[in-house]
Amino acid sequence: MSRSAHPAGPRYADVLPEGHYSAPPADLNALDPKVWAQTVGRDEDGALTVGGIPVTRLAEEFGTPAYILDETDFRARARAWRTAFGDDADVFYAGKAFLSRAVVRWLHEEGLNLDVCSGGELATALSAGMPADRIAFHGNNKSVAEIHRAVEAGVGRIVLDSFQEIARVAHIAQSLGRRQRVQIRITVGVEAHTHEFIATAHEDQKFGIPLAGGQAAEAVRRALQLDGLEVVGIHSHIGSQIFDMSGFEVAAHRVVGLLKEIRDEHGVELPEIDLGGGLGIAYTSDDDPREPHEIAKALTEIVTRECEGARLATPRISVEPGRAIVGPTAFTVYEVGTIKPLDGLRTYVSVDGGMSDNIRTALYDAEYSVSLVSRSSDAEPMLCRVVGKHCESGDIVVRDAFLPGDLAPGDLIAVPATGAYCRSMASNYNHVLRPPVVAVADGEARVIVRRETEDDLLRLDVG
Ligand SMILES: *Cc1c(COP(=O)(O)O)cnc(C)c1O
Repeated sequence: MSRSAHPAGPRYADVLPEGHYSAPPADLNALDPKVWAQTVGRDEDGALTVGGIPVTRLAEEFGTPAYILDETDFRARARAWRTAFGDDADVFYAGKAFLSRAVVRWLHEEGLNLDVCSGGELATALSAGMPADRIAFHGNNKSVAEIHRAVEAGVGRIVLDSFQEIARVAHIAQSLGRRQRVQIRITVGVEAHTHEFIATAHEDQKFGIPLAGGQAAEAVRRALQLDGLEVVGIHSHIGSQIFDMSGFEVAAHRVVGLLKEIRDEHGVELPEIDLGGGLGIAYTSDDDPREPHEIAKALTEIVTRECEGARLATPRISVEPGRAIVGPTAFTVYEVGTIKPLDGLRTYVSVDGGMSDNIRTALYDAEYSVSLVSRSSDAEPMLCRVVGKHCESGDIVVRDAFLPGDLAPGDLIAVPATGAYCRSMASNYNHVLRPPVVAVADGEARVIVRRETEDDLLRLDVG
């Protein structure tokens, strides 16, 4: 089955070839530690617990659907990335994966930096006390107002994405009497997805300045001449949900080639190289992500080797994991509303959320797993499709999964690995209210982003 985007829109009701499904898991009650947050387990009643709290109690107190985030796990993953890269590198958490003020404080405390890509994300970061010099500002079309605010706040880096932006940021910085530290984002002709990458001569995408045709070199040349800019490095981000390091190898080779060209032409050795994010996580038991220390070792070796080959001092490396930090730390808990067996096909299980709280299945054909969490069950597995409550046939949360055959309305089911790109991409489609994010640590649960209310909806609708 194709895992690419569907030009004709999301599919539904597809009948898959015989043998497509992996066999049902040996134990439907098992919670694979690869896909579930660190402190998740089951209590003696069979209910899932996280941070020592049964999910049934969380659902009672905070309602469903809800994103439950394991703060202990979040901090541990952030720390693991920080420790793996050490003091000679920087880890920037990609805020777009999921950002809230609590998250900003955790990152600050754990010694990470932060990527933002809009005025809203910048405001969130600053309001939670992230020092501006630990913030990098991204985006392919930052507004003049956003740039102005970022320069004025003193952000550590602005990642320049186009020729217009080079001139724009230089002009704004100069008008404020500043010299803004910048990186230039280039596209190196490498596109990485999960287990493979494609190396191409050209990049057909909106981000970055192509290396091809000498455009990136020209961008650096121009930026170096502008008083308002201090060019500190080159930025490259090659994709998402990547498991294989070889795409980074080709990207680093090409970035270092550019650094060498800059050195030879201008006598300047740029001190930084940012390799972006995109490191994969386990959404299902079939995925095998690498540990941060393995990734750090591989990336550091690649850059060091390339720089030695080019006789360059090894620049300071930065990386930008988003999903790899927050993704596995949260799950979404839903209440089952209706169960509709379709003979010979599958059983449709409808939950009280859907594409408004997790658009990734509809948008990217993303795969998820799902488990019954309010109790355990010894019933036979049944092939299910977990769908939402929206007026859209493509409103699918989990395309194919096995749940126990005795599943009943009122049961709680949960989808793991929803920490990244779920709440941050949530919508109000059908005027459904966006779920809260509840952080759990050491037996305590607290709301860090509250549930939306009808008042919130009506406040925006000014009649
Ligand atoms: C999206 C993005 C990231 C983070 O990607 P993940 O897949 O969440 O790790 C990092 N850097 C840039 C420039 C991005 O656009």
